Amino acid sequence: MQDPRPIPPLPPPGRARAGSPIAEPAEWFDAVVDARYGKGVRDEILADAERAFRTHFDDDKNRKAENVVWHDGPDGKKIPFLDGWISPEMGAWQGEFWGKYMLAGAEVAECRNDAELKRWLAGNAVRFVREFRQSDGYIGSYADRDFLGGPKDRRHGFAWNVWGRKYTMWALLEIARVCDRPELVDAAAGMAGQLMAQLSERGLSLRETGTFAGMPSCSALIVLVRLHRATGRREHLAFARNIVADWDRADGAIPNLVGNAFSGRPVHDWYPKPEHWAKSYEMMSCLEGIVEYAETVGGAEGARLLDAVTRVRDLLVRHETNRLGSVGDGDKFTGRQNERNNGTELCDVVYWMRLNAALRRATGDGKAPALVEKAFRGAFLPGIRDGGRWCVQLVKADGTDVPAPLQVGMKRHHCCVDNMPRGFVAARHAGILRVAAPDTNAAAGRWRHNNERIQP
Ligand SMILES: [Zn+2]
Repeated sequence: MQDPRPIPPLPPPGRARAGSPIAEPAEWFDAVVDARYGKGVRDEILADAERAFRTHFDDDKNRKAENVVWHDGPDGKKIPFLDGWISPEMGAWQGEFWGKYMLAGAEVAECRNDAELKRWLAGNAVRFVREFRQSDGYIGSYADRDFLGGPKDRRHGFAWNVWGRKYTMWALLEIARVCDRPELVDAAAGMAGQLMAQLSERGLSLRETGTFAGMPSCSALIVLVRLHRATGRREHLAFARNIVADWDRADGAIPNLVGNAFSGRPVHDWYPKPEHWAKSYEMMSCLEGIVEYAETVGGAEGARLLDAVTRVRDLLVRHETNRLGSVGDGDKFTGRQNERNNGTELCDVVYWMRLNAALRRATGDGKAPALVEKAFRGAFLPGIRDGGRWCVQLVKADGTDVPAPLQVGMKRHHCCVDNMPRGFVAARHAGILRVAAPDTNAAAGRWRHNNERIQP
């Protein structure tokens, strides 16, 4: 066994942020942005994501062998991704990548005030909506929009249908705002309207769809709140209210994020077998949505919800902190903290930083900057690979990092890779990273970066 990875030293408390500790991560951000959104690569990366909406790989029962991705198993043997735990009758998640990639692009373009990238995002988003929007507003990677997964789905319950749609709606909404293209708000509202009508016809709540106690689907909360902000329409806020109410139930039905927050019990003790339901990324995404909902409704209801989220955050710090400075082990909250072989998924680190940044914004929370800095330096930056073109899936405390495979038949995407730029944006929102706009005087507008410094 190798020695545990040393966590990079943090600057002493109160040290001025201007200067050395910040300059290098900002250059890493430049490299990641260049490697994922540079003019020479982005069209191909986007085309790979768009393919999901033409092939409907996600619910294709006849997924072909050429879509099987082989990756390294624990004993050195190659494992076929589709013959393992995700069989062809289960729903896949190719549908998340268009939205996640474009959403991250919008976040990058906004914080760097990059007009050229904004034009590229807006042009491609408008073209995408024209090509893939159906008459009822549906835009999705599932040919069968009713394959929603969840306990009431007569077919296999494992599906990521709403999760993928969530990222598409979110991207459309953010590109609309950042690039000032209101027609994209209409497209996102059309998708939300179709989803609301579909759930109502089928007598389902969002919590009853998808995987992991409905949390992937219910993470759409943040999008509905922002949609309400953009449209002023009451039905979007009412839909959001239903999601939050479904987490504050007297019967305690899983996951009951708000009700359980006040129990004081560790998250991994809320229900049996946390490895089957306590999925870190999706839960923290839901919690971030509660923060935005609370900010929107305000008053006593908002204050109580912000208290609930702060309590869950504190429970995570107390019971789920891993050796890398983030929370969770593998991709779940199982109470295995400070263990020698802790691993943390890069998506989890990004959403841990986002959650803390949101609490800081909403409540002035004083703990957030130090928590984000610890996670950013100890768990996020060590996961970046190949000059910012790729990252690992799991950063491991014992140094046995798990590479990010090409997921579910994708060629240029992986959940963590697509979230990677958002890690820098989250660190910026938490106040620990300064990001300068691209230097427009540099040759051909290329951003300053140093690939050698970012190599593992
Ligand atoms: Zn991931």
